[in-house]
Amino acid sequence: MTTAIYTGSFDPITLGHLNLIKRASRVFDKVIVCIMFNKDKHPLFSVEERLRQVTTVTERFPNVEVDSSDLLVAEYARQKGASVVVRGLRAVSDYEKECQMALINKRLNPELETFFLPASEKYMYLSSSAVRELALFGSDLSAFAPREIIGEIEEKFREKGRKSSWQAASTN
Ligand code: ADP
Repeated sequence: MTTAIYTGSFDPITLGHLNLIKRASRVFDKVIVCIMFNKDKHPLFSVEERLRQVTTVTERFPNVEVDSSDLLVAEYARQKGASVVVRGLRAVSDYEKECQMALINKRLNPELETFFLPASEKYMYLSSSAVRELALFGSDLSAFAPREIIGEIEEKFREKGRKSSWQAASTN
């Protein structure tokens, strides 16, 4: 049985990520989607929120599990008995960073193979930061984010908007 891990920030999960999860779930026996968090980063959504979002949108894939971790990918894979790490490649710009990471992971865990999947043509230019940017301007997110979480993304920006106007009002 081959277990693959698919790691990322997923802040928030996009249709590009979901497309990759769907394709990986057809190839590997089990796919663990793991939200990797860094205590020094300030994500838009908390780990708990992202865990809930990713679980909701991947519910229809029976061989997909969702988890979170602050370990190095190579160590996390070892703990989970995973022999593959799946990564998505969008533009050429992803390639250098992803190759470097694959080489480092291989050095740290020689049992671990990195599998690159090309992004689907439809989602080639899609990233979580693009979704956050669009949401900030109140754009329609239906072509970019899973429909189950669009309301939550919009609400997060309304909340942020309320907070910053409250802060501005209280400092004036
Ligand atoms: P990270 O913080 O590791 O970059 P992301 O959540 O942005 O986390 O991405 C996780 C993985 O998903 C990376 O391999 C990235 O290349 C891939 N990915 C991101 N967006 C897309 C997309 N639109 N299509 C295919 N793969 C993607």
